[in-house]
Amino acid sequence: MTSPKTAAARLYVTCDLLEGAAVDLPGPQAHYLRTVLRLAPGAGLAVFNGRDGEWRARLERLDKAGGTAVAELQTRAQQGGPDVTLCFAPIKRPGIDFIAEKATELGTAVLQPVFTAHTDVTRVNVERLRANAIEAAEQCERLDVPEVRVPVSLAALLEAWPTACPLLLAAERGASGLAAPPLAAAVREAGGPPVAFLIGPEGGFAASELDDLGKLAFVHPVSLGPRILRADTAGLAALACWQSLAGDGGSPPPARTDTRP
Ligand code: SAM
Repeated sequence: MTSPKTAAARLYVTCDLLEGAAVDLPGPQAHYLRTVLRLAPGAGLAVFNGRDGEWRARLERLDKAGGTAVAELQTRAQQGGPDVTLCFAPIKRPGIDFIAEKATELGTAVLQPVFTAHTDVTRVNVERLRANAIEAAEQCERLDVPEVRVPVSLAALLEAWPTACPLLLAAERGASGLAAPPLAAAVREAGGPPVAFLIGPEGGFAASELDDLGKLAFVHPVSLGPRILRADTAGLAALACWQSLAGDGGSPPPARTDTRP
């Protein structure tokens, strides 16, 4: 949920949004509106569901058990972001939460945890990552929430890969004969979107993994510069650079038809 510093409440909801629709607010959202933002029935808030744009809604009921609002006016039409996926080897908390939050802010469409040979995390709490992504989407005024997929092995990821989507492999050392051109050059070659990044774990990719990846036509090694970045930094740097080179990094902030509370 948006932080108390944010001027107006902005919540992700799951119901359909149209004029007059009743918006059910479960206990945690109602608690946040009541005790953190200190809102009361009659107050305005913004809601979005990833399908119907953003709506101004009016609180009707708010108590300990939950609340209800009514959708009044669509303030932004639904618009999708670029189709960019972040495949990343899971790392320990708080780094993995940081990845979910910041990758959402940077406009990733899909978050895909991938177990590699040197990944030292064996379990991923997908629900917590989804909660982080929802909160970040509320905060950054996205109109959708990225899909957070269940973890897969690197072999399974590559086996099922949609080969029309370039997979940009963040390869800091160009190991095993892989030439790693700068990201800008790889983006020029790979085009896109759709596009995806693959970021290794803190221990890096195994040489055999790099060998296997190097044989796949849809895999494009990329360098993110001369410094070895932490795994969380690498994914976020890749996304930020890509958005600026080929995504929506040059677009202005959203405009609304009505911003009254
Ligand atoms: N221990 C590894 C090593 O020294 O080779 C470093 C792994 S790095 C902490 C984690 C991941 O971030 C790497 O597997 C790679 O995917 C990505 N990465 C870090 N720095 C990078 C760079 N300069 N260029 C491309 N990828 C980078």
